[in-house]
Amino acid sequence: MDEFLANFNLKEKYPNKFSGYGSFFNQITKNEDQILIGEIAGFQDLLWGFGIQNAFKSGFIASKSILDGKECKNYYKIAENNFKPKLNSNIVNRFIWEKFASNDYSIILNRIYNSKDPLKYLNSFHNFNFLQKLTYPFALFYMKYRYPNLKL
Ligand SMILES: Cc1cc2nc3c(=O)[nH]c(=O)nc-3n(C[C@H](O)[C@H](O)[C@H](O)COP(=O)(O)OP(=O)(O)OC[C@H]3O[C@@H](n4cnc5c(N)ncnc54)[C@H](O)[C@@H]3O)c2cc1C
Repeated sequence: MDEFLANFNLKEKYPNKFSGYGSFFNQITKNEDQILIGEIAGFQDLLWGFGIQNAFKSGFIASKSILDGKECKNYYKIAENNFKPKLNSNIVNRFIWEKFASNDYSIILNRIYNSKDPLKYLNSFHNFNFLQKLTYPFALFYMKYRYPNLKL
């Protein structure tokens, strides 16, 4: 923030200490007349809390939408297409992690190590692949029961 204040004509109003929103749910938060990106929009990985790539990606989609003169609705439509599969796969990944793998990282590391194309595997792991679609109803049921306070 100091960097921004030093280099741009910004005025701070009511400064507060801030350490992140945290968005552990599978719904996208939408404002009718405002574009929300990153964590506050819900684009955070429910498995391990990652959100940097999602923040960049949603920021890119938002800036493109603004430059193209499109309305907020257009941004949320594209964001939904891009992020909904990720949010759904997060539910399944978290379920599998908690039930079968949380004491032993080797299960996941071995899967990645033994896959022919680790990047392709990780991409499918985060994009609601066929197995995740099959597992989703059970995972969602478990997660709703386990975390009644989350918006799932
Ligand atoms: C310890 C830790 C480790 C992490 N490790 C990883 C990792 O390895 N990989 C990964 O992908 N993710 C990781 N994350 C998560 C990642 O940092 C966040 O998901 C990501 O930074 C979210 O980006 P964002 O732009 O949505 O929000 P933020 O990075 O939180 O940025 C929001 C900004 O808005 C500012 N702000 C808030 N309110 C106002 C206001 N009213 N006026 C003006 N400014 C305001 C805040 O000061 C902040 O600078 C980690 C998080 C933590 C806490």
